[in-house]
Amino acid sequence: MQSFQLHERASSVPINSYQREDWQKGYESLKQEGNYWIDDVEGQIPTELHGTLFRNGPGLLDVNGQPIHHPFDGDGMISAIAFHNGRAHFRNRFIRTTGYLEEQKAGKILYRGVFGTQKPGGWLANAFDFRLKNIANTNVIYWGGKLLALWEAADPHRLDPHTLETLGKDSLNGVLAEGEAFAAHPRFDPSCGQDGGAPCLVNFSIKPALSTTITIFELDSTAKVVRKHAHSVPGFAFIHDFAITPNYCIFFQNPVAFNPLPFVFGLRGPGECIKFQPHQPTRVILIPRHTSKSVKILETQSGFVFHHANAFEQGDEVVIDSICYESLPEVEPGSDFKQVDFDALQPGQLWRFHLNLKDKAVSRELIEDRCCEFPSMHKERVGRPYRYLYMGAADAESGNAPLQAILKVDLESGERQIWSAAPRGFVSEPIFVERPNSTIEDDGWVLTLVYDAAHHRSDVVVLDARNLNQGAIARLHLKHHIPYGLHGTFAPGL
Ligand code: FE
Repeated sequence: MQSFQLHERASSVPINSYQREDWQKGYESLKQEGNYWIDDVEGQIPTELHGTLFRNGPGLLDVNGQPIHHPFDGDGMISAIAFHNGRAHFRNRFIRTTGYLEEQKAGKILYRGVFGTQKPGGWLANAFDFRLKNIANTNVIYWGGKLLALWEAADPHRLDPHTLETLGKDSLNGVLAEGEAFAAHPRFDPSCGQDGGAPCLVNFSIKPALSTTITIFELDSTAKVVRKHAHSVPGFAFIHDFAITPNYCIFFQNPVAFNPLPFVFGLRGPGECIKFQPHQPTRVILIPRHTSKSVKILETQSGFVFHHANAFEQGDEVVIDSICYESLPEVEPGSDFKQVDFDALQPGQLWRFHLNLKDKAVSRELIEDRCCEFPSMHKERVGRPYRYLYMGAADAESGNAPLQAILKVDLESGERQIWSAAPRGFVSEPIFVERPNSTIEDDGWVLTLVYDAAHHRSDVVVLDARNLNQGAIARLHLKHHIPYGLHGTFAPGL
């Protein structure tokens, strides 16, 4: 009896669903470029799943053995998994940015990174060097017949969608100047009122300063920029993502201050010079997509948002669902990102904000308190009322931890479904792919890349979006791992 009680007490201590060493191994560089059919498959690849999953993310976590300071500074690498007739083909290639080619040739780090990577030689070697490397590592989209790799601080790189060969930088037919920013989070509008109901792509750029310029771009289905308008908003802004409705582009200007001096003097990257201001409100900026109307700015409580799930209009309100953090975790110059103390950080959680445009009041409610990130949904519901949301999530219901599960939230009924790769699997952004010709919102598949620490390789996992609980319907084992990625897209039929 005594030993039973002891055992009971021991088991009440929370046990992690993961081993830190397992999670860390997913951050090794992948130096090889591959091109092969995936023959090691558990389950069945649905024959109706026809198209290519493109993923972008840092492929290199070092330059010839010199470690970079943060994964966000890693050179962009595209993975393409093409599904056709129940089979799948894998290909990956690094984006041949100018900086990638120069550093690979030199065999050392030549550029400072936004998130703290410094050239060798200490602060003296880095001070007053303001050149930044366009690393093209954040997202990849297929639009108007173009495959574009995106990084929010500079212009896109265009790739061949079949070979992934880098074709050069893309100025959107001369709209973007050399090096001009184009954010990494475009939103697909399935039916644009200004284009007679045709789909369009909406994106933005940020030029932060004492007051910040936000520029909106709208591209028609041939990737031609059909609308571009710029707006100045007060204060410094660090904005990674936005959301759209038929009438608005919505931004969260989180309360941060920027002190450039440590960057100027070679001590920190610019991303490490941003300091969260917990006692200041978050500003919600609504920029009308019809330029004749004026910008609205509302305020809500402090907090930090990287990613929004979706937004829609309802009467006098705009409703927006976002992953919120209590504060912005700071990247410290001397720290090693692989040693992050997950338990010391607040988890990202899903909140719904109601923005009342008449009385400018903002209210919010917590939808999901499980640690979550990387929201994804049916693309035809972007900007409209929607029911189903898919996210990367922690295996445990509470606390902060690496993403090991895919969570589906039914926003109408409140039902949850979950598929977990714990204890040795770590998921990436889920991407929902609709079944061809279906009108049911969750009829399709959720695709995600899972790092499997047990085999030090990555799997492409196919889930039935209507029933995540039943487990993977196909698990495609790659011959190697893919370092944890950021964002991607599915191009149907390609
Ligand atoms: Fe992002």
